Order: sequence, then structure tokens, then C-alpha cells
Amino acid sequence: MKLYNSTSRQIEEFVPYNKDRVTMYTCGPTVYHFAHIGNLRSYIMEDVLEKALDYVGYNVVRAMNITDVGHLSGDSDDGEDKMLIGAEREHKSVMDIAKEYTDAFKADFLSLNLQWPKLVAPATSCIDEYIKIITVLLDKGYAYISNGNVYFDTSKLKEYYRFGNQNQDEMVVGARDSVTEDEGKHNQNDFVLWFTKSKFENHALKWDSPWGVGYPGWHIECSGISYKFLGEYLDIHCGGVDNKFPHHTNEIAQTESYLGHPWCKYWFHVEHLNTKTGKMSKSSGDFLTLTRLNELGFSPMVYKLFCLQSHYRKQLVYSTEALEGAKSAYAKLIKRIATLDRTDKSVDKAVYEKLDNQFKQALENDLNTSYALTTLYDALKADTNDGTKLALVLSFDKVLGLKLSTAFEAPKSTEPEVDADLKQKIETMIEQRRQAKANKDYALADSIRNQLAEIGVELIDTKEGTTFKIKG
Ligand code: AMP
Ligand code: ZN
Repeated sequence: MKLYNSTSRQIEEFVPYNKDRVTMYTCGPTVYHFAHIGNLRSYIMEDVLEKALDYVGYNVVRAMNITDVGHLSGDSDDGEDKMLIGAEREHKSVMDIAKEYTDAFKADFLSLNLQWPKLVAPATSCIDEYIKIITVLLDKGYAYISNGNVYFDTSKLKEYYRFGNQNQDEMVVGARDSVTEDEGKHNQNDFVLWFTKSKFENHALKWDSPWGVGYPGWHIECSGISYKFLGEYLDIHCGGVDNKFPHHTNEIAQTESYLGHPWCKYWFHVEHLNTKTGKMSKSSGDFLTLTRLNELGFSPMVYKLFCLQSHYRKQLVYSTEALEGAKSAYAKLIKRIATLDRTDKSVDKAVYEKLDNQFKQALENDLNTSYALTTLYDALKADTNDGTKLALVLSFDKVLGLKLSTAFEAPKSTEPEVDADLKQKIETMIEQRRQAKANKDYALADSIRNQLAEIGVELIDTKEGTTFKIKG
């Protein structure tokens, strides 16, 4: 497997610390609002990565956090706590907001046919872990207390920024929001590990700590959760490109200072989904959710196909026209698969292996999903029997997760659903009519038929008995 590594800025051969158990960590969502389809692009590509590793023979253990505390509207400890923004917006408690949007996120994940990571932890569930790490960082001299907060001291590091030649100005502003000066910091890039002197008197979530009652900074949660669930050697860390700085930079700083040795080997960053006018972001409020996309006529599988058609390291621009293209491609794909003869169980081993190898090579080439899709089309076009094609399609779908087997599901009935009470009533009247006819009371039988016709129910007499149809 070859993967681009954001630290070396090169495609590298993937060599995990332990080939029997690949550890993978994903930065989860900040649950103060719905995930937008840009966030979901990152999760789609991370899911494909996990499944691709699995497909080529690795055993992957994946963990993800749910940010329900500490993420401020500016990524560098400025602004307001995002969870409070959500709570104020909806006049609910922070806890209710976290539950509501964690559930919504999980529902999106499942609609996209993504595998929910084996280990998922809300940030608020691992406070002891952060306190343990911060205590060691203070003991080792990597952290200091100032103005009531605990800060990480970036001046103690030989190399702070690991993702290339970002100049000092860019680092301060970061890829995300703007930064305002925090007077407690000794150096510009220092960051908060633990807030005791909350900027927000109304901060709902607070815990006791050796430094006073307070709450953790955003970055420490990923270090803590990753360490707790995946141990001190991490193979792959994922996130969107905006996470490189300051979030991932700070995670590396504090985790390696705590552990005293290198930590994560491969950094996998997904480029942004943009709208024609710029980056899609939750804070701007100008974003599309999966539900909205569905209302616009684009199913989760159509959106997923749209994402898989391009490489994860390229920016992707959302447009209705592009989604229309993916919609028609998906419909054609399903239609083509539906024509395959499912009773053909024979598989031509040579053809199967050739195409399966081509598919693996696409994945192993820095997750080239568009070439993986080409291989899917190649399989459908191949000069071979339906059994071989079907075996390939279903196997590839373990990674692509495009629900390709739905091609064989019976099309959903277009008949209107009949309410259970109404059905009961109609069946009772059909029985009364049958008895009336048996008693030769044809006037009553006709009157029952007319009463049903008035409410739009048409009776159909057959040799086996009477059935009914609701007129549309
Ligand atoms: P958040 O909920 O804001 O913490 O973001 C969740 C994930 O989505 C992170 O990995 C972000 O880097 C990623 N992300 C944010 N905006 C976008 C975007 N427009 N396109 C792709 N990924 C994004
Ligand atoms: Zn994170």
C-alpha cells in the first residue's frame, strides 16, 4: 500500500508499526450542528481508506472522538465554545445539543453506508486521561500555568510544525479562523491544555482538576482518546486539511512530549469540498446537509459516488450539475448490474484475479478511487460470464460501499400505503357484502360496494374471493 504522508509530503510505502494490527485515528465531529457534506467527504474517504486496508489484508482498529467540549470558534483558543453557540442557538442544554447532533451524525454515517468505528468516545468521557497527560507535561516542563489556564510551551520543541514549509504568518492565522491574542500565552503558538479561568462564566461543563475546576482544550482530547484506545504507537491519523494546523500540529507536540518518542507514522488529510463561492463551513451557516441533498433529489449513494470519482487530495467543487452527473451514473450502474444473471454461480478464476488485482492496485496507489471505479466498469464490460462479473462487483463494493446489491431488490411499490384501521374496516365490509350475497340480499351487497366506492375503494371479485384497490 502506498499512501501520501502529510509529514514527508510524499507518497510512501505504508509500513505499520505492527503488521498484524493497524491503528487508525479519526478526528470526529464537533457536535454543535449537523455535519455538512464537506465534513462527510472527509469521513467517506477515511472509510474507504479503512476498508481498502482491510481489503488488501490488514487488520485495522479504528478510534474516533466526538467533540462535545472545548472546541472554540477560533481553533487557537479564541472565540466562544462551539457547544455553547449550539445550545444558545436552540435554547437547549449543551448535553442535549451533543446528543441531538451525535445521533444525527451517526444517522448520516449509516445512510452513507460507512462503518461506525469500533471505538468511539465523546471527549467528555475521557477527562481523567487528559489530566494524566497534562500532569506529566507540567512535570516534564513542557507546560506552564498562566492566568489560571494550563498552556503547552511550544518554545520547548526543536520542531513544532511538521507539515511542510508553512511560514510563521500563515501558522499564526492558520487554515481556519482568525486568531486573537491571548495574554496568558508566553509564545504565539502556545495553546491551552486546560482552561480553569473560563472565559465564559456560563460554561456548562466543568470538572475538578489539580489546577482548579475547568475543562480541557480541544487538542488534548484527540491525544488522550487516541492514546487511551490505540496505545502509544499510532499508524494513521486522519482529518480534513484544515486540521493540519493548529489541531494536528498541537496533537503531535503534546503527545510526543508526553510519550518521549515519535508517535504517529502517517498523516492522511482529505482536501476540502468547496462551493463555487468558497469552503463549505458550519460556522458560516452556508452549508448543505445530507438530508437537504436528499430533498434535492440526490441520495447518499449518489453523493458518495460523486466523492469517489475524484481523488481525496484534490479539492472538490460541489455543483448541482456535477451531482446530476453522479445521479445518472449511479442509476446506470444499478441498472446494468440488475441485468446480470444471479443464478450464474460460476466464477472464471483467471478473469476474477486479473480484475481484482487491478482493483487492489488502484487502492494501493494512494487510494485512487476513480481508478477503482474504472475497474468496476471494466468488470461489467469484461468478456466473461455473469457469475464472474457479479462476484467482482460484490467484492469491490466491500470497499466502495455503494450498496450495489440493491440492484437486485424488488422496486418499491408505487401503490399508496393503506392505513391499518382503514384496511380492517374495508375487510369487514367485504365480509358483510359476501354474507349479503350469500343471503341473496343484492341491494345490501350493492350498497356496500357503493359506500366503498365513495371513499375511493374499488372491489375486485375473483374466483378466490374479493380483493380491493385504492384509487389513486
Ligand atoms: P468539525 O466537525 O468542524 O470538527 O469537522 C469534522 C471534520 O470535517 C474534520 O476532519 C474537518 O477537517 C473536516 N472538514 C471541515 N470542513 C470540510 C470541508 N469543507 N471539506 C472536507 N472536510 C471538511
Ligand atoms: Zn482531532
